[in-house]
Amino acid sequence: MKSKRAAPVSAVKKVFHFDSQTDGYRADVCVVSCFDARFELVTRKFLKKRGIWWADPLKIAGGAKAFASPAEESERSFVLGQVRTSMRLHGTNRVILMVHSDCGAYGGLQAFGGDEEREAANHETQLRSAAEFLKDNIPAIEVECYYLKFTGVWAVEAA
Ligand SMILES: [Zn+2]
Repeated sequence: MKSKRAAPVSAVKKVFHFDSQTDGYRADVCVVSCFDARFELVTRKFLKKRGIWWADPLKIAGGAKAFASPAEESERSFVLGQVRTSMRLHGTNRVILMVHSDCGAYGGLQAFGGDEEREAANHETQLRSAAEFLKDNIPAIEVECYYLKFTGVWAVEAA
């Protein structure tokens, strides 16, 4: 038996009201981070604490992994293109690169035998190599690197 769907009254209807800013903006930063929702709140709070309000978020599985060890080369060039677009559209001149603990894109903490220090060492290397790739391709960009753990945020100095 075929189910019969009722015809929509109207194709599009307003379901929520909210006044968003209509003025354009200059982005303080473009943030390349993982879409893991567990780190959404800490990221927002951390950026706010650093006085960053206008951030263009590039949320992709693994975050900075896309630059350091992408699943495929096309991923790396796509994300690089997105950074360039943020620069062009919103005048962005700084990129924040992030990776986080227990990231599925790295096989989680278990990929490091449950050893947080091994994981941290790996992620630090990944951040440095992601920063190097970015600086090589966009020399004018400023890069900051951060490692998110379940207890806070660690800064990694880009070499
Ligand atoms: Zn992740």
